Amino acid sequence: MKSEGFTTKILHNDRQSTIEHGSLHKPIHTSVAFEYGDARALADVFQGKASGYSYGRQNNPTTSALEEKVSLMEGGVATVCFATGMSAITSTMIALLRTGDHLISSSFLFGNTNSLFNTLKTLGIEVTFVDATDVNNVATAVQPNTKAVFVETIANPCTQVSDLEGIGNYCENNNLLYIVDNTVTSPYLFQPASVKAGLIINSLTKYIGGHGNALGGAVTETGCYDWSQFENIYDNYKKGPVSNWGLLQIKKKGLRDTGGTISPESAHHLSIGTETLALRMERSCENAATLAGFFESHPKVKKVFHPSIKSHPEHERAQKLFKHYGSLMSIELTDQVDCFDFLNSLEAVVASSNLGDNRTLGIPVAHTIFYEMGPQRRASMGISDSMIRLSIGIEDQNDLLEDFGQALL
Ligand SMILES: *Cc1c(COP(=O)(O)O)cnc(C)c1O
Repeated sequence: MKSEGFTTKILHNDRQSTIEHGSLHKPIHTSVAFEYGDARALADVFQGKASGYSYGRQNNPTTSALEEKVSLMEGGVATVCFATGMSAITSTMIALLRTGDHLISSSFLFGNTNSLFNTLKTLGIEVTFVDATDVNNVATAVQPNTKAVFVETIANPCTQVSDLEGIGNYCENNNLLYIVDNTVTSPYLFQPASVKAGLIINSLTKYIGGHGNALGGAVTETGCYDWSQFENIYDNYKKGPVSNWGLLQIKKKGLRDTGGTISPESAHHLSIGTETLALRMERSCENAATLAGFFESHPKVKKVFHPSIKSHPEHERAQKLFKHYGSLMSIELTDQVDCFDFLNSLEAVVASSNLGDNRTLGIPVAHTIFYEMGPQRRASMGISDSMIRLSIGIEDQNDLLEDFGQALL
């Protein structure tokens, strides 16, 4: 079947492989171990000479089905899934970086990623945080020991859009590994391979799963980076096509050795989520753009952070690179509105820390997810005490407008 559309491809992907009894979904395989009639075949799998399943910490048929879907959505070469998005990022860093290496990261970063990168510093890996909305800041930070550049697409909570294209070109010209966390855009809005990212991170927990009922993470190899230039690949993993070396090392040194394995049940939930990613993103992004306009003209809202707003510093960049402006936004209320009272008076909107759920979620970020980093780092990220981050869901638009309207009366 010649099915090229984003959703059609995903819907029919499982049918391309043999599935027991012709079931339309890849079943949930819970077995930890796999039997081989011929012991030599088992050895071949362990030695990477044949593909197959060895032990549940490293691979599982249900997880493989999800990995294929993520690769398809990202236009990538291959994907490895993890228990969570953080596990994907941790495993990637542990597997690829060594003491004495240097990592350049956007300073507009998911809070736990920020915390992890500070831990890397204690392990002897240098990390420089830069304003990644301009490639020149990345170029200025480069040192002889720089190995990789890490950015997010749309940052949380202030929605800065990284100079994704500029940094991609710079990394290509300077042989740097370019890692893009695509969680907030999802592969439906943006494919980082289009700006030459070597590795793509997705928290599957968010938009891809969409229903807030399973945790998962993924690392996707795009084929854009020449791993033969990367000094830290062990000889053991210089096997097969060069484009596989990095992900193979992440799978072994990262997934296998840290054990951040996704459960088959979660992999199944997340696979179901991929089927409706496009539909859900269309709806939540439309809701978000309408609400951004509503907040912008509301007298009790001081500031709106959403790339759809014309005065957003990277509005044009977002328009050029992304299919829509995303459904993550933040608002700052005027001094006469208390951010806790505001959240308490909302009915359809849930006070919760997740994002990318079907439901609209709101959270006072300075007091919760960005609390631990302290006032100074918060100020450097532009996070004020009255800021509320909203992850707009797929509710009926009028209900959201009405709910926010009554809460701001
Ligand atoms: C949530 C999130 C993560 C971590 O994902 P988990 O699945 O919660 O571990 C990483 N990056 C970004 C941008 C996120 O929003």
